[in-house]
Amino acid sequence: MSAAFLAQCRATIGDAQVLTGDDMARFLTDWRGRFTGRALAVLRPADTAEVAALARHCAQHRVPVVPQGGNTGLVLGSVPDASGEAVVLSLARLNRIRNVDPVNDTLTAEAGCLLQQVQQAAADAGRLFPLSLASEGSCTIGGNLSTNAGGTAVLRYGNMRELTLGLEVVTAQGEVWNGLRGLRKDNTGYDLRDLFIGAEGTLGIITAAVLKLFALPAARATALFALGSPRDALALLTVARQRCDASLTGFELFSDVCLQLVAKHFSTLRSPFAGRHPHYVLLEISDAESAAHAAALLESVAGVALERGLVRDAAIAASLSQSTALWALREHISMAQAAEGKNIKHDIALPISRIADFVEQTDAELQRRFVGCRMVIFGHLGDGNLHYNVSAPAGADDDEFLRRQPEVNLVVHDSVHRFGGSISAEHGLGALKRDEIKRYKSGTELDMMMAIKRALDPLNLMNPGKVL
Ligand code: FAD
Ligand code: ZN
Repeated sequence: MSAAFLAQCRATIGDAQVLTGDDMARFLTDWRGRFTGRALAVLRPADTAEVAALARHCAQHRVPVVPQGGNTGLVLGSVPDASGEAVVLSLARLNRIRNVDPVNDTLTAEAGCLLQQVQQAAADAGRLFPLSLASEGSCTIGGNLSTNAGGTAVLRYGNMRELTLGLEVVTAQGEVWNGLRGLRKDNTGYDLRDLFIGAEGTLGIITAAVLKLFALPAARATALFALGSPRDALALLTVARQRCDASLTGFELFSDVCLQLVAKHFSTLRSPFAGRHPHYVLLEISDAESAAHAAALLESVAGVALERGLVRDAAIAASLSQSTALWALREHISMAQAAEGKNIKHDIALPISRIADFVEQTDAELQRRFVGCRMVIFGHLGDGNLHYNVSAPAGADDDEFLRRQPEVNLVVHDSVHRFGGSISAEHGLGALKRDEIKRYKSGTELDMMMAIKRALDPLNLMNPGKVL
């Protein structure tokens, strides 16, 4: 059976685009190297018609499909399971920018376009595509859509769902839905677009999207503030919002533990402050008017914050290179953490007003249960999204600590739930949190999700074992 299926695939996209054996290796292991699955083949179609034909072959032969973009996902959504029954469907060759419309302020890109490629195409047209992630040189628009990606500019521009006007999708049956409408208003029934965004490939295969563009800012101003606590950071956020409104584009929090890790593993990156402080906020303003206007806004925020005793020190970037250096501190946290060793990660969202209480109570509970554990906390505070990571106590064995991950997760996720939060803010559920989510969503919500899944993918071939 699989021989007949593979022959059909080869006839459709050419022998060279059906990978088997060792050629599949880089498609089977997740980005963090935690899991390697098996697959029948990796299929590399070139366009929407080829994706649709392959989906029909898969439906006919009951072969599960794992859509894959840049394979940078962090929840084991883009790699196949160990059964070897599925195919990986790589969208990488669907990488054309189909259209840029500066008057409608939209760009139509195929799913395999790299995020960076889309940012560049927008810039070439004198416009901004604002989604920005540390993985932007490797991740794809299809993956960004399927995980409803966030990043560092959500505060101002929203996440991927809010940046998308239309989609083209190949259904589980191999039909093509052309929903590439560049409309900002369209009240004609159920919003199918929003169903596929964030579905992690479990409902169909996204092949193209109409994305929103924005004005390029005239100037940016960046500052790093040193603070005593997340509570002070929240008070600073309120001040910054009042002063800057829509000009506030970044508000990132990280703890001193994060800064120390960055300094340890990247010797060229250093703190702009002489002393150490418990927490830091990286704040960015994008201004439509001028550099002077941006600088005046930032200085007014810093002035109020110092006056009210919210911040202990402030470093305001005086040049683009100083701004880049401040951002580098934030952007190297993940890598510094990886270099330091393994830890237990949580990608959580909370109502912004409850973050300080959450951190205080959850830190204390973890310290009671796992004495000496180190909190590596950073994230997009302006979006209520924290990467709330827990490392083994200094000198302790990482692997031994990791064996206690289910207990740590229970403490953190139960606390998130009590505070009205979400256990996945921007990375999705994938295979990693699929069982965990059942503890926190109601039966009614899970039943509705299941009903949608069954209706669109009755044979359960679209990325089975992920999300639900
Ligand atoms: P993949 O990893 O290939 O796939 C992700 C999921 O989408 C899988 O379930 C896959 O099956 C599905 N999928 C992919 N393409 C399609 C398609 N065309 N149709 C249907 N389903 C599809 N994420 C954030 O949100 N914010 C961040 O700030 C952020 N920072 C990151 C930093 C680093 C260093 C890394 C490695 C990752 C980061 N991520 C972040 C996670 C990841 O980069 C994003 O989730 C990204 O959007 C995934 O894109 P991808 O093309 O690599 O998708
Ligand atoms: Zn993030």
